[in-house]
Amino acid sequence: MDDQRFMTAALAEARKAAARGEVPVGAVIVRGGRIVARGSNRPLASGDPTAHAEIVALRRAARRAGNYRLPDCDLFVTLEPCAMCLGAVVQARVRRLVYGAADPKAGAVSSVMTFPFDRLNHRPEVLGGVLADPAAALLKGFFRRRRGSGPAGPRRARTAGAKFPFGPRDG
Ligand SMILES: [Zn+2]
Repeated sequence: MDDQRFMTAALAEARKAAARGEVPVGAVIVRGGRIVARGSNRPLASGDPTAHAEIVALRRAARRAGNYRLPDCDLFVTLEPCAMCLGAVVQARVRRLVYGAADPKAGAVSSVMTFPFDRLNHRPEVLGGVLADPAAALLKGFFRRRRGSGPAGPRRARTAGAKFPFGPRDG
């Protein structure tokens, strides 16, 4: 099935993020049955809080299309998008959003909030749970390894001693 094929490509992007020490989330943009852009999560490498896999892939697809609107494109991402990325999906007029694992800490499709697509002037078709297990396993393995390597993670170092109302996204 095509959804699984494209999600497999998004999972490969997630593995690239993990290899760089970033939270493993990956995305691809598909137009006419072909992948036109790929993105992996890279806020650490980019020094950019907006550099989520979805945003990276949308920027590349838009640049390639020479158009900031991508109405004939579908976005595949391994993890339920956050509110920022759903906002970008609406801005880009993405036709269809397919995601893998649910994100109970930041997912804005239906986990921490229900994104108000019906109140906006664009509502993509949304499907979740495609290859959710491998996407979740990748995240679990990443956080397990990071915990195992002690308090050296960049995020951990910055937040050491800080009193946060929210736990880290280790779930
Ligand atoms: Zn996001």
